[in-house]
Amino acid sequence: MFNGGVTDSAITANTLVQLNDGNALPALGFGVWQMPDDQAADSVAEALAVGYRSIDTARIYDNEAGVGRAIRESGIARSDVFVTTKLWNDDQGRDRTLRAFDDSLVRLGLDYVDLYLIHWPKPGLGLYIETYEAMMELRDSGRARSIGVSNFTQEHLLRLVKATGEAPAVNQVELHPSFSQAALRAFHAEHAIATESWSPLGQGESLTDPTVTRIAREVGRTPAQVVLRWHLQLGNIVIPKSATPARIAENFAVFDFALTPAQVAEITALDGGGGRIGPHPERF
Ligand code: NAD
Repeated sequence: MFNGGVTDSAITANTLVQLNDGNALPALGFGVWQMPDDQAADSVAEALAVGYRSIDTARIYDNEAGVGRAIRESGIARSDVFVTTKLWNDDQGRDRTLRAFDDSLVRLGLDYVDLYLIHWPKPGLGLYIETYEAMMELRDSGRARSIGVSNFTQEHLLRLVKATGEAPAVNQVELHPSFSQAALRAFHAEHAIATESWSPLGQGESLTDPTVTRIAREVGRTPAQVVLRWHLQLGNIVIPKSATPARIAENFAVFDFALTPAQVAEITALDGGGGRIGPHPERF
């Protein structure tokens, strides 16, 4: 069976998750949702300086320009940074997708992205297959190295696999201790789809959970570090967000300790607590 993740404790800052298309993506990256353009530029510069080598943005975040500027000005080789952006809902459909992608590249000031995702399936539009096929063209052109989806359910994924003959490289979904998506993760593993967790800290809510704070005391780390380490040991790709330099560094300092299998299981068992924070993919 495909192992889209890393499941042992030997996870380092350079650990890559293998994708089903032969590419690989850093297990720990940096998210920039809800950051204005200038703040995104400053935070991405900070994150790159700390050691992050994967940045997750989207058309709808309205900060691709700041993200691209920070990457170009970092002095880090383009090939050493993994850049993800996403196609917004009103750009689904073949021609719009191709245009929206060109526009994203212009704003980023880059000549390729490492991963291009369909942001939401929007099943009511009936366009996600056509959209994905346009992304296959972008991948053939070399300007999107990998392609994938976000917020797809098993049903959406099955329909996509049947229609296109391939599984997307990544499905980026809401995933945190109170919504740990066991069934979807198992489905991803069966279909060689890498699981990427959005709102990995539950937008901060996971950090006050009594089990998480108790385990943090046991291992002498912060709640955020414990939750991120839990994701990594489950094999998830994880993209926490912070605009605070100390937290950006804290969230990257998760490679010098490990949770026991029992601690991982205890956190996984928090599923159902607070449940889903964001919209339901079928309805949004
Ligand atoms: P998150 O779970 O990463 O939580 C971020 C919040 O947690 C911060 O705003 C801060 O308040 C707090 N925080 C972060 N580090 C902390 C620390 N060390 N100590 C204490 N508090 C801390 O939430 P998110 O931003 O929603 O998700 C991360 C990324 O996922 C986004 O930036 C975006 O890139 C992506 N995302 C994608 C989708 C999608 O539909 N594909 C949706 C939401 C988010």
